[in-house]
Amino acid sequence: MSTADMNADGLTRRTAAELADLLRAGEVSSVEVTRAHLDRMAAVDGAVHAYLHVNTDEALATAADVDARRGAGEDLPGLAGVPIAVKDIVVTKNQVTTAGSKILEDWVPPYDATLVRLLREAGMPILGKTNLDEFAMGSSTEHSAYGPTRNPWDTDRIPGGSGGGSAAAVASHLAPIAIGTDTGGSIRQPAAVTGTVGVKPTYGGVSRYGLIALASSLDQAGPVSRTVLDSALLHEVIGVHDPLDSTSLTDPAGGLVEAARSGDLAGMRVGVVKELGGEGYQPGVRASFDHSVELLRSAGAEVVEVSCPSFDYALAAYYLILPAEASSNLAKFDGMRFGLRVEPHEGPVTAETVMAATRGAGFGDEVKRRIILGTHALSAGYYDAYYGSAQKVRTLIQRDFAAAFAQADVLVSPTAPTTAFRFGEKVDDPLAMYLNDVATIPANLAGVPGLSLPSGLSDDGLPVGFQVLAPVREDARLYRVGGVLERLLTQEWGGPILDKAPELETSR
Ligand code: GLN
Repeated sequence: MSTADMNADGLTRRTAAELADLLRAGEVSSVEVTRAHLDRMAAVDGAVHAYLHVNTDEALATAADVDARRGAGEDLPGLAGVPIAVKDIVVTKNQVTTAGSKILEDWVPPYDATLVRLLREAGMPILGKTNLDEFAMGSSTEHSAYGPTRNPWDTDRIPGGSGGGSAAAVASHLAPIAIGTDTGGSIRQPAAVTGTVGVKPTYGGVSRYGLIALASSLDQAGPVSRTVLDSALLHEVIGVHDPLDSTSLTDPAGGLVEAARSGDLAGMRVGVVKELGGEGYQPGVRASFDHSVELLRSAGAEVVEVSCPSFDYALAAYYLILPAEASSNLAKFDGMRFGLRVEPHEGPVTAETVMAATRGAGFGDEVKRRIILGTHALSAGYYDAYYGSAQKVRTLIQRDFAAAFAQADVLVSPTAPTTAFRFGEKVDDPLAMYLNDVATIPANLAGVPGLSLPSGLSDDGLPVGFQVLAPVREDARLYRVGGVLERLLTQEWGGPILDKAPELETSR
């Protein structure tokens, strides 16, 4: 590696796997790597706003500790010393966690989420907490109570959502790797529109203990990275059974890193989902998708078309099931237990009036919209018509997946119908916003794993995401297909796609 690659800016361009190798070889220290990212944040995060909170002291202390242990000859986990960013909906002990909401402004959790504990045990310094749409509701980060994150490809455009902060941090080289959460696409869609890789593991593959719940039957945490291999490495750190989460798989998917490195598609049947990719998909997105399918074919995959007719109803079912679960999960933010407490301006101060004043002031419009929708869908007179029907559609979607996976080992589609849109374009039109997740939501409703990787640039010069879906517990297939496609595409581009993104404005 040249000296230029080893200077501070060079270090922020390295992948997590490369940094892990350099650290293991003693060529750099974790303190140097961590400081390089903190310095770059000071220089360019003013233009991006990927982070809500930066943990300078704690990150450097963890880095110094890892360096000392390595110096003493201790055998350390693979990613020890590689810094990471964490979406601010995952609780971190003694560090503010807001979920992007005013109602949790300044809330300091008394415990760590299981996945945070695993990151700490792996010796990964936590750089800070990343921005998101309030309570992970949205596709643009415009619903964050703390202002939006900007897309490094064009700072007038959205970085996707809800995990726009984690995706933009990784795309802007403000973290080598990050944690996101995906309830309907919030890892995969931001990855797609920022030119990064994002993975939603099989439901139950990563513990939900310590994730602030949006919709418990859909939520799943997972990796955001610049390469398929990096996601596999992180997925193996966090994909561990957890007795604190009753839906945690006792035997989560394994062999992920090996699959990412396999380089082989022999005998792999790839199913193109007919319902995900036609009308409503930007022509440049479709062209990029078709090209990637051809590359998979050239690498030895057998490509078939599959039909999943119930996917046409996935969005409608999701927007009943998600608000129903969210309205129940968010009932605990009542001004009594956590964060904000607002007393009414006039009239009696009772538990009820304080709750109403607190929730009125603390929640944003999108959150209120979904609470109203959810409580309505669950109300006695409407339960069967709305929530009950949506659950039936969910079963049909699961059956469509089962039938499709009888014909193909993996399914593929564009991750999102369009590239990154401009701020303000969809924020006042909830239905237009919801349509961003039309291709990602079916996976959450069925609990199957999904990966998005960059497949190129559309004719507007913005990144396009390619989605791979696999059956439950077969997460390794995502990495196998993703690894091969990434290698072929990177050869065509002559390097990582993010090298084509413009330089960010520095405030240094
Ligand atoms: N954009 C989707 C929504 O608004 C997905 C959210 C998510 O995955 N957290 O619900």
